[in-house]
Amino acid sequence: MSTNRIYNFNAGPATLPLEALEEVRAGMMDFGGMSVLEISHRSKEYEAIQGETRSLVAELMGVPAGYQILFLTGGASLQFAMAPMNLMDKAADYAVTGYWSKKAVAEARLVGEVRTVFSSEEKKFANVPQPSEIKRSDGASYLHITTNNTIYGTQYQELPDPGAAPIVADMSSDILSYKIDVSRLGMIYAGAQKNIGPAGVTLVVIKDELVARKYRELPTMLKYSTHAENNSLFNTPPVFAIYVMRSVLRWIKAKGGVAAIEKTNIEKARILYDAIDASQIYKGYADKGSRSRMNVTFATPTSELADKFVAEAKARGMVGLKGHRALGGIRASIYNAFPIEGIKALVEFMKEFEKKA
Ligand code: PMP
Repeated sequence: MSTNRIYNFNAGPATLPLEALEEVRAGMMDFGGMSVLEISHRSKEYEAIQGETRSLVAELMGVPAGYQILFLTGGASLQFAMAPMNLMDKAADYAVTGYWSKKAVAEARLVGEVRTVFSSEEKKFANVPQPSEIKRSDGASYLHITTNNTIYGTQYQELPDPGAAPIVADMSSDILSYKIDVSRLGMIYAGAQKNIGPAGVTLVVIKDELVARKYRELPTMLKYSTHAENNSLFNTPPVFAIYVMRSVLRWIKAKGGVAAIEKTNIEKARILYDAIDASQIYKGYADKGSRSRMNVTFATPTSELADKFVAEAKARGMVGLKGHRALGGIRASIYNAFPIEGIKALVEFMKEFEKKA
């Protein structure tokens, strides 16, 4: 398996650590004559898998007492709806910083009043707010933010100040890529398929007092309290996705934890942004003060040149570099598991391509 790995710059599902994949391959058949795909979610074996995965989340993220760690399904997209259904009384504040924040707003509008307390839409989502730029409203049930904007390649450099209402953060594309103080946030959610595992499981870290909120009657599966009270085993959880997540989290731990991963992520992003800034043809999309370490977006003078870039890179074993259709250009998604060697290979290619262009 290791011999034919290529550099995968896809935005998600994305590169997973080879060590984690190999651990999954080696271990998945080994459950008393059954594979992990076949065992009961009520078995001791599965209990151990989910228990360790939860402990690793708590340890690596530094989740304090008074929070629940939940493994849900429906992707981050279901959280766009579940968060307002469970947590919004009459109104909530939203900072709108891209495509995914807008999707979150659209779902929240079905539940109550959405107050846009920051928007970078006029600037075509090239920036995110400084904490002081978010003007929180009175009586809002929470503030929703998208910490990393996967499509535009922007990322909060500093999380907003905790206010009277808790912060709900969509961290789908930067979870566990840098150290955060969880106690400053009321709820964090993330589809796993970028930084922490395969598609199919959504991680939710939520404060007990938010789990306890109840403003309306909701279907059982859509209540955080259902999943909290049943240890994420109210219904059959995505057993295999959680099994793979465990191996990815073990890998993060073996690398030295989130602090060590963060250091490498800083270095990886620096190499790539330096190459963009030194070039005559590549232009970074995000404002410099809002640049993402996870999704690096840049343009070439023409879209034809970007297409040529993407095709030639692919021929060299670097795939997934096409920018999202909403933005065009080039996007290099370089999550936790993306190797630094792949960044160096891309930068080499960028220089060669520029010489020919
Ligand atoms: N939020 C962000 C920031 C994302 O990048 C994505 C997916 N790319 C989503 C939400 C939606 O996630 P899912 O596909 O898991 O519903």
